[in-house]
Amino acid sequence: MKKNSWQLENTYSELPDTFYNLQAPIPVKKPELVLFNESLAYDLGLDFLKKEKAKIADYFSGNKVPKGATPISQAYAGHQFGHFNMLGDGRAILLGEQIDSIGNRFDIQLKGSGRTPFSRGGDGRATLYSMLREYLISESMHFLGIPTTRSLAVVSTGEQVYRGPIHEGAVLTRVASSHIRVGTFEFARNFGSIEELKSLTDYTIQRHYPKIVKTENPYLELLKVVMYEQIDLVVNWMRVGFIHGVMNTDNMSICGETIDYGPCAFMNAYHPKTVFSSIDTNKRYAFVNQSYIAHWNLTIFANALLPLFSNHEEKAVKLAKSLLNEFQNRFLDQWYSMIFNKLGIVNPNKKDQVLVNDLLILMEEYKTDYTQLFIALEKNQALDESLFEQEEFKSWTQAWKHRNPDLEQMKKYNPRIIPRNHWVENALDAGVDGDMIPFKNLLELLSNPYDSKPDELIYEKTPVDFDASYQTFCGT
Ligand code: AMP
Ligand code: MG
Repeated sequence: MKKNSWQLENTYSELPDTFYNLQAPIPVKKPELVLFNESLAYDLGLDFLKKEKAKIADYFSGNKVPKGATPISQAYAGHQFGHFNMLGDGRAILLGEQIDSIGNRFDIQLKGSGRTPFSRGGDGRATLYSMLREYLISESMHFLGIPTTRSLAVVSTGEQVYRGPIHEGAVLTRVASSHIRVGTFEFARNFGSIEELKSLTDYTIQRHYPKIVKTENPYLELLKVVMYEQIDLVVNWMRVGFIHGVMNTDNMSICGETIDYGPCAFMNAYHPKTVFSSIDTNKRYAFVNQSYIAHWNLTIFANALLPLFSNHEEKAVKLAKSLLNEFQNRFLDQWYSMIFNKLGIVNPNKKDQVLVNDLLILMEEYKTDYTQLFIALEKNQALDESLFEQEEFKSWTQAWKHRNPDLEQMKKYNPRIIPRNHWVENALDAGVDGDMIPFKNLLELLSNPYDSKPDELIYEKTPVDFDASYQTFCGT
């Protein structure tokens, strides 16, 4: 296979045309390259772009469409905060699927690339602030070892974007195993024929889970593998304290990647109900609710696939229900083994679950930093936190030490550095003012999250009360 050139295919547009609109990105006034992810470009076989610096901003603003691209906006629907809506790419264009040197297929999508037939009332654009935010956090998730879409470039547009205040506009290039979502299936089920639903499902199985093609009921098997992927993903989020913030069904990717970095944030002080999103007033997408919501979203997915499970509706429902009923036990098993890993408990027994539960109760009561706590245990160093003065915690620590924790193993599961909210904001504020140095410094630290050096310690602390008033926003 030829390396280091555009190798675009467009298999998605071989689906029935209900699933997309042919749509070129809308050119921008003055494209300027703000960020380019050279190592990702290398992995994708797009390294040659380095020699064409002037063209990078053109490609990744949408002003120049690469050879072999068939730009489309994708149709999808979704449940947003529990309510069904027709959505679709209102501000994104899929250029095509880049094939890397070993044959892997990646969607190359421009986000903030102008109006499409799905824009509804929106302007099709995005702010520099929020595209920098997506770049920073998605790349950080990648380095934390969590499946995610990646960020290849940010290009400012030289255009203003109105969101109350005026912002500078930007386009982010998002790289994903695909952009097929639960909402894509809801779209097919609600607005398409059974044949169209089947063609989307067959395509998805071929693209992401070819191993299940030959199983007895591949459609039911799809529900199962997607459920397993989602469980793994949410457990991984909970390992590092990540709160997605807007787990609507259109923001849940079928291939198990984290997608759509809107109001996401990382938890500092441990509290299961932590929420930062300004619009999530009912705490629907709180830290601890993420597993319940994944299950809820999978029920919506199952409902969309129902006619494919069996010709008999009753039987189809029964099959789906019995599978979805496995969710809770599987999630809990995975979640406990993740926490045992964080605590270095190698051969867990039933009593260890009590040990975990007791620790979380104490952490919640004393508002302990979720990331720092595990590092402190591993290093056998007290934190400057009230938890460490408590007799209850001292006896908990004794009980934990009796379990002979594997301290080396803990290092692999407990990040030293996470994108702390105040550092993220600090880097983004400087970035929109034209100073990308704090952003690049932070990204550099975040790209090695399990390995800390002493001078990085300031990145591990959160200013008192910062989080109490911290809010994140959607759709900016
Ligand atoms: P999100 O909150 O990014 O998941 O977006 C939800 C839906 O709103 C998707 O259909 C987006 O394409 C659409 N959307 C968000 N922002 C805009 C915008 N500025 N212009 C048009 N559509 C948008
Ligand atoms: Mg979305």
